Amino acid sequence: MNEPGLRDLSCADDYDPNSMPVDKAREVIARFLTPVSATERVHVRSALGRVLAADVISPLDVPAHDNSAMDGYAVRFSDLAADGEVTLPVAGTAFAGAPFAGPLPAAQAVRIMTGGVVPAGADTIVMQEHVNAAGGRVTIGKGNRKGQNLRRAGEDLRAGAPALRRGQAVRPAEVGLIASLGIPEVEVYRRLRVAFFSTGDELVSIGTVPKEGQIYDSNRYTIHGMLERLGCEVMDMGVVRDDPALLEAAFEKAAEAADVVITSGGVSVGEADFVKELLNKLGQVVFWKIAMKPGRPLAYGRVGNAHFFGLPGNPVSVMVTFYQFVRDALLKLSGRDPVEPTPTFKVPCTSSLRKAPGRTEFQRAILTRGTDGQMTVRVTGEQGSGILRSMSEANCFIILPTDQGNVTPGTLVEVQLMEGVI
Ligand code: AMP
Ligand code: MG
Repeated sequence: MNEPGLRDLSCADDYDPNSMPVDKAREVIARFLTPVSATERVHVRSALGRVLAADVISPLDVPAHDNSAMDGYAVRFSDLAADGEVTLPVAGTAFAGAPFAGPLPAAQAVRIMTGGVVPAGADTIVMQEHVNAAGGRVTIGKGNRKGQNLRRAGEDLRAGAPALRRGQAVRPAEVGLIASLGIPEVEVYRRLRVAFFSTGDELVSIGTVPKEGQIYDSNRYTIHGMLERLGCEVMDMGVVRDDPALLEAAFEKAAEAADVVITSGGVSVGEADFVKELLNKLGQVVFWKIAMKPGRPLAYGRVGNAHFFGLPGNPVSVMVTFYQFVRDALLKLSGRDPVEPTPTFKVPCTSSLRKAPGRTEFQRAILTRGTDGQMTVRVTGEQGSGILRSMSEANCFIILPTDQGNVTPGTLVEVQLMEGVI
């Protein structure tokens, strides 16, 4: 194997494993991500949410013909008067889908509608608002420019040129663009297969009445939802008890079936050694304490041939570490190229925030537009990593950088939306 081993990495890299900076962790993970290579052909509609595995080459010029950008009259510029007016007979019409037969006769005009094919010989479109039309003739004033209001064949896209690039995600705009080229099927990467399970003796699944000390497993549901949103093929492997033999069996089964294995729980202090031992046997894993809140413990590595993300157990930590580390990694593995970091921007924060320097914080927050039209952000309230409601109420994260201390109301803070527009 040419890939650098994870063990090499943990030795070679200059970082404190008990306080790994967020950016460093992202950078290290990125080194190991080789995208899926298998592809399949799908119908253009089914391509929504998939990643293109080949450039989409335009089989035609777009637009296919010189056409009018306006409702008006197609003329020869040389028939117009530089100063004063000219009156031309109207030879016929060119409607969208119903062209004028033949070339534009000398010293005449053709009535043309938006999208109508420009008759041969015509080089200028005069807007209908700028003419006087009466009795089969049209009077055109001065001030026209040669070539105005005319869209040239191939102006948007030339036949043979790439309309879309390999690695691009197919959104509704791409579906429409592919359809506009008359292409029925496209080549996409196969979906990334992701297996996941929850660990913990205290967990019960919905449908079971929890006994004292037991709680419902929610992480499997959030993880399932986040994976579905990314277009992954998901394998929900249920809850696995904190039992070495059961965990080993679950890891082996997951690694055999999937490209990526995600677990939650069992990586915090007290449990880490046990899971660590197991994973060192089954693969190669680096355990990190990330300098972040929430989501401090995180494991990353390989189990068998699968990538492995060991997320913390607390429900909010699961979502934050998923969005901040796993999401981009899965996009990259799915063939997305490039994977741009989720955009952030700065707005004034109306809450007062407590923050200790030394770690990156991802506070759950609500971005709103006030009656004055200004955007501001406020936190959702209690920020405990077990309070899943803080994620549900939030529409964004406030990202407080490592060196940041307490925040007073009115300070500009960095905000990252949780929801894309598309
Ligand atoms: P752990 O890292 O396994 O010690 O878990 C940390 C905390 O998260 C504990 O309070 C767990 O009960 C809780 N937790 C772990 N897994 C889940 C889960 N799947 N759903 C809800 N809470 C969980
Ligand atoms: Mg646990």
